[in-house]
Amino acid sequence: MLISLTELFTREGKTNDYAVELDCREFQIPQGICPVSDSKPVALHIENVGDRTLVLSGEAEFTLMIPCDRCLEPVEVPFQLSIERTLDMNLTDEERIANLDEQPYLQGYNLDVDQLVRDELLLNLPMKVLCDEDCKGICNRCGANLNHETCDCDRSSLDPRMSVIQDIFKQFKEV
Ligand SMILES: [Zn+2]
Ligand SMILES: [Zn+2]
Repeated sequence: MLISLTELFTREGKTNDYAVELDCREFQIPQGICPVSDSKPVALHIENVGDRTLVLSGEAEFTLMIPCDRCLEPVEVPFQLSIERTLDMNLTDEERIANLDEQPYLQGYNLDVDQLVRDELLLNLPMKVLCDEDCKGICNRCGANLNHETCDCDRSSLDPRMSVIQDIFKQFKEV
């Protein structure tokens, strides 16, 4: 959702509080397009500190369905993000892009709250998402989910790097 900062921007020292529903029902992240299964309104506090600068702090709380790294089953991952930004309104959109100081959540005097949350989410993604610490993953031969079924594939084949080491050992024995 877009919120207009025009009124706030014209009054130095003024603060505004907002509670904004997320429009986004899914987020695109490196793991894929992940549905939002639950969300609270995003709470934002924005202050005009003068010198054409706004200081923003906010809280976003939502749950994403992210595929397990091993078996790809969706896992509910809760997020609680604290967002802190300084919005420099001296810059035009063109200048921001030219400076590589991209603030894509800012379009003129409108703040794109979904984009702001997406930005913060990308900085806070977990390194690893697992449905269970002991997830057995999927068979890399037939694709069976090994948490639910077994298969007859031979998965004992060695990593090619290991077979190089084995060859070296063999050479030593032959000498
Ligand atoms: Zn899993
Ligand atoms: Zn298999």
